Amino acid sequence: MNTDSAFTPSPSPSTETLDAADPLRQFRDAFILPPGVIYLDGNSLGARPRGALEIAQRVIEQEWGHDLIRSWNTAGWFDLPSRLGNKLARLIGAGDDEVVITDTISINLFKVLAGALKMRPGRQVIVSERENFPTDLYMAQGLAQLLEQGHRLVLIDSHDELTHVLDKQVAVVMLTHVNYRTGAMWDMASATAKVHDCGALMLWDLAHSAGAVEVDLHAAEADFAVGCTYKYLNGGPGSPAFVYVNSRWIGELQQPLNGWWGHAAPFVFDPEYRPAADIRRTLCGTQGIVSMAMIEPGLDLMHEATMTALRKKSVALTSRFIEQVEARCAGLGLSLATPREPALRGSQVSFVHEHGYAVMQALIARGVIGDYREPGILRFGFAPLYVRFQDVDAAAEALREILAGKLWDRPKFTTLNAVT
Ligand SMILES: *Cc1c(COP(=O)(O)O)cnc(C)c1O
Repeated sequence: MNTDSAFTPSPSPSTETLDAADPLRQFRDAFILPPGVIYLDGNSLGARPRGALEIAQRVIEQEWGHDLIRSWNTAGWFDLPSRLGNKLARLIGAGDDEVVITDTISINLFKVLAGALKMRPGRQVIVSERENFPTDLYMAQGLAQLLEQGHRLVLIDSHDELTHVLDKQVAVVMLTHVNYRTGAMWDMASATAKVHDCGALMLWDLAHSAGAVEVDLHAAEADFAVGCTYKYLNGGPGSPAFVYVNSRWIGELQQPLNGWWGHAAPFVFDPEYRPAADIRRTLCGTQGIVSMAMIEPGLDLMHEATMTALRKKSVALTSRFIEQVEARCAGLGLSLATPREPALRGSQVSFVHEHGYAVMQALIARGVIGDYREPGILRFGFAPLYVRFQDVDAAAEALREILAGKLWDRPKFTTLNAVT
């Protein structure tokens, strides 16, 4: 049977050599990973930094349990969205007081998209991609319905198409920098420049970029951005998202979710809303402090490692995975869905297979955890802080064995779960 057929390794360097020479190798110890698991799903839920438990314990026992309501001041709870936002800002090329951590991507996108449309009265088109993560499109659809001002969503099907749809009708272009399914990455600076040339505003979704690739929002002159902290930033399940507003727009941005946390003086309890002068005007209501506090260890690790070193290792990991899978799994029905050119992709690799869902379930059963997205896409995320080169080769080999032996073809793997 194919399963036992000998595999001739390619002449590339051994994984032992690569792991020993990896300048980020010691960061793996800063994470908890269960034994026997190769975790290639940090693009969906990042692994847990060791430090997160200590923080949760401190927040729950000391700050909540003992200090109670005093902690809003004494433990810095009230300033947490801004303090952590500033920390995150430096990972994405933003400045002080341009980022806060709050709410979800969906909600933050709604806030800044609404504000941006108000800044471009008379223009009725929102441009996005058909391949965008659907929640981004849903939020835009919901907002257009609410406004009843004839706003419509124009969806493009390729990067090249952007130039063709840009005209004086376009108010906002909202794009996800790294595509969640294919890992394809936009050239942020060049797309933003095109959008500005037609007088529109640019809103980037950094869900698969923050902590995964080098992002420079200032260099690109991006107007707005949103992103989450539970993927590559390792903030924990459902940890709050972030929102960026370029400082040149802060004074002008009117976002409609005028909660008290966005007020200039929340504790004056004025019946009239007056927005905070700075980025805090994007806040709405009381934040989930326990969940937010746990974002900090992941951010600290990113700063220590540096985004430049992370990106370098990420490219090496994804390149090797493509090479190893193509060498080992040739003729077994896989096709690469991710750009081959490293500069054109994020930190994930996707392969399409006719029975992609079942193949991924069989991989997960063996401890190689990636995930599945319709149609037929096997997604593998490479978080450079804790994924090793030996994991890359072992995952490619597990995939070969599953495909060659048709080990995916069992009812327990072919039945669909609620969360894929
Ligand atoms: C993960 C992801 C989201 C998630 O949105 P939430 O509202 O935070 O659940 C949104 N957009 C993109 C592009 C994503 O990848």
